[in-house]
Amino acid sequence: MTSGVTQGRSRTIDAGPYEVRISAGLSSEFASIISTVARAHCYAVITDDQVGPLHGGALMGELSKQGRASLHVMPAGEAHKNRDTWARLTDELLDVGCGRDTTVVALGGGVVGDLAGFVAATFMRGVPFVQCPTSLLAMIDASVGGKTGVDTAVGKNLVGAFHNPTVVLADVELLTTLPVEHRRAGLAEAIKHGVIADAGHFAELSEALPALVAGDPTATLDAVARSVEIKCSVVKADAQEHGLRKTLNFGHTIGHAIEHVSGYALLHGECVAIGMVLEARLAERLGIADEGTADRIQRILTRAQLPVARPESLGAEEVVAATRLDKKARSGTAEYALPVRIGEMANAESGWSIAVADAAVLEVLA
Ligand code: NAD
Repeated sequence: MTSGVTQGRSRTIDAGPYEVRISAGLSSEFASIISTVARAHCYAVITDDQVGPLHGGALMGELSKQGRASLHVMPAGEAHKNRDTWARLTDELLDVGCGRDTTVVALGGGVVGDLAGFVAATFMRGVPFVQCPTSLLAMIDASVGGKTGVDTAVGKNLVGAFHNPTVVLADVELLTTLPVEHRRAGLAEAIKHGVIADAGHFAELSEALPALVAGDPTATLDAVARSVEIKCSVVKADAQEHGLRKTLNFGHTIGHAIEHVSGYALLHGECVAIGMVLEARLAERLGIADEGTADRIQRILTRAQLPVARPESLGAEEVVAATRLDKKARSGTAEYALPVRIGEMANAESGWSIAVADAAVLEVLA
C-alpha cells in the first residue's frame, strides 16, 4: 500500500503524479499552496450555491492576494452535473478573460470536482486544476484518481476525461458544515474501500462508525487518510482502468443504474450502498463470494443508516435495463466487480470484472 507521511494530525499521501494533503485547518493555507504548486495568471474557483456561501469567501479573499481570481457558482446537486453546466461555466471563464494561463480550483463535493475537472480538462485543451474537496465522499474518493466528467440523459458519467489534479487539498474541518445525510453517504465509499482491499479498514470503520457519523475530527481524518491510501494504491497500479481499477466499481453497476432510474433522487453514496449489498448477494449466488459476505456489508451499512435494498418505487426490470447502459457494459452485457470476501475482490484472470447475465441480476433485485 501507498506510504503516507504523518505530521501531527496531517497526512500527505503520494498519488503518483500529485499529492493528496489532508489535515484539520488546511484551508487557511489553500491559497498559498495553490499559488505555489499551480501558479497561474488567473485562478477560476468553481463551487456550488451551498458550499460557495459557506467556504468560498475565505478562499477568494486569500487567492485574490495571489493573482486574478474569479468565482463561478453552479447550482448544487447531481441533476446539474451535465453538459449545460459545463458549457455555462466554460463560457463564464472565457467572459472573464481566462486563458491558457489559468488554474481551475474545484471547491465542493464530488459533483463540483467532477464538473470543474472536466472544465479544466477541456478548457483551452486542458489547464491545471486543484481539488479542494468539501464533502466526505469527495475527500474519500471523488477528488482522487483523475476521473472527470458529466452525466447525460442516457446515464451517469458518460462524457468525460481522465485529467489529474495538480494537488488535492482536504481540510476535514470544512466537514463541520456538511449535512449528516451526506456524511453517511460518504461513508459508503470508505466501506467500499475496505471491502475491495483491506479487511482491517473495514473493521476500523465498523468500530469508529458512531464517531464518524457524529463527525469526530480525529476519526474522520484517519478514515479519510486510509481510504485515500487504498484508492491511490489502486489508481497508481492502473490509472486508466484496464484492470485492477475496475475493483473500485464494486457496488457501482447496480448503484449507478439505481441513481439514474431514480432521477438522482437518491444520493450517490446511498445508491452505492444498495449496489454493494446487491452485488455481494449476486457474488454469493454465483458461488464467487463466501457466504455471509453480503450480510456483513449490509450490517455495517444499516448501522450507518444507509439504504440496503432497491426502493420499491423503482422497477427491477428498469434497473437491469439501466445497467446495460453503464460505461462498463461490453456488447450490451453489464460487467461487475465482485468480492470474494471482505478485503478481497474476484478474478484477476478475467480482468477484475465479470459479465453477468441479466436474469441473475434480476433475481437479486427482485
Ligand atoms: P455533492 O457534490 O452533490 O455534495 C453533496 C451535497 O453536500 C451538495 O449539496 C453540496 O452542496 C453539499 N456540500 C458539500 N460540501 C459541503 C460542506 N462542507 N458543507 C455544507 N454542504 C456541503 O455530492 P458528493 O456526495 O460529494 O459527490 C457525489 C458525486 O461524486 C457524484 O456525482 C459521483 O458520481 C462523483 N464521484 C466521482 C468519483 C471520481 O472518481 N471522479 C468517485 C466517486 C464519486
